[in-house]
Amino acid sequence: MSAIDFDKLRSRFHLPDGKVYLDGNSLGALPRHTETRLKEVISAEWADELVSGWNTKAWIDLPLSVGEQIAPIIGAASGTVVCCDSLSINLFKALTACLELNEGRSLITLEDGQFPTDSYIADGLSRLLGADRCRTQAVDIAALTPETLSESAVLLLSHVDYKSGALRDMGAITAMAQSAGCLVIWDLAHSAGAIDMDLEASQVDFAVGCTYKFLNGGPGAPGFLYVAERHQEVQNPLPGWMGHARLFDFEAKYEAAPGIKRFLTGTQSVLALSAVSASLSVFEGLAMHDVRARSLALTGHFIARWEQSSVLQSHAALGTPIDDAQRGSQVSLALESAFPVSQALIADGVIVDFREPNIVRFGFSPLYNTFSDADQAIASLEAVLTSERHRLPQFQIRSTVT
Ligand SMILES: *Cc1c(COP(=O)(O)O)cnc(C)c1O
Repeated sequence: MSAIDFDKLRSRFHLPDGKVYLDGNSLGALPRHTETRLKEVISAEWADELVSGWNTKAWIDLPLSVGEQIAPIIGAASGTVVCCDSLSINLFKALTACLELNEGRSLITLEDGQFPTDSYIADGLSRLLGADRCRTQAVDIAALTPETLSESAVLLLSHVDYKSGALRDMGAITAMAQSAGCLVIWDLAHSAGAIDMDLEASQVDFAVGCTYKFLNGGPGAPGFLYVAERHQEVQNPLPGWMGHARLFDFEAKYEAAPGIKRFLTGTQSVLALSAVSASLSVFEGLAMHDVRARSLALTGHFIARWEQSSVLQSHAALGTPIDDAQRGSQVSLALESAFPVSQALIADGVIVDFREPNIVRFGFSPLYNTFSDADQAIASLEAVLTSERHRLPQFQIRSTVT
């Protein structure tokens, strides 16, 4: 029995009437409390306090205080997480730090088919530093062995693959890479807030993540960076004044703040961080293994329905591992005409997304999705495929964001 009352939890979110929202892995839903809190920050803090709000409302501490709220959700120790910038920027900092820590090695290993920003940032760093100080190699994750990592400074992997929804064994892979003298950065974009994990027990070196997906922080909300305490002496390659030991002394020379604070760069968005903080309060008191159990029950239910449906059996292949231990919080179905099918589902009120080349993603947010959402999505998909409604011309048009 889970200690969580999921109906009550769902009622804490604004969810549009008549729609089934299965895209919380791309943009989490709005907690009601976040709306109230943001209005209050605007009228009672920004409007009334103006510049003194940096002190009176502790705006200056937000990257660290929000980091402290994220820490228990990802099994991180106090003082190891900051919420700032974007995942992409934080990844740049983490990769650079790993090259500095693992002096003598210059290779970044990432996986084939990694989320594009991760490989763009790694390749950009290689161009910046030059090939003798930084090179990248992409490998098939199944081929990762201590031998393939024997020259790597750092291995960068997604905890949950954004396309397939496959979950990786954080503890085993981290230990294997470290046995080859390689540091590990985990990208938690698709796991933080949905999967229970313990960065400390897994001895993870660095991690980066988003707050706008399963953490419900709002569109474009800042990312986060985890740096294991043992690595916090490393330099921030973007040493801005917010990471200075005494920022308001305005010293000519940079001196890094002790601890995780040195990974800050420029001034934070107070509105954005206030929204993240309010949304994270929904997680207070929730045991992440209960959240994870709910996630598995929801995706498991959806998969069982897919198995029982003769229409879906003939049109849609399961792209997500069926084994619980290897499944994140989404189910990916591979099908012909996946893009128009996703558009027809959205027109039907089932909000999903499409990923190249032929994937429709059904993301289950354990905090607010229900078994009935899964049933409705399956029924709607069967109806679209049977009627071939997706062939209508309006479903062929692509917007900038899919
Ligand atoms: C969503 C996502 C990102 C996004 O990075 P931003 O810097 O926030 O734009 C990065 N990596 C993965 C794996 C993602 O799923």
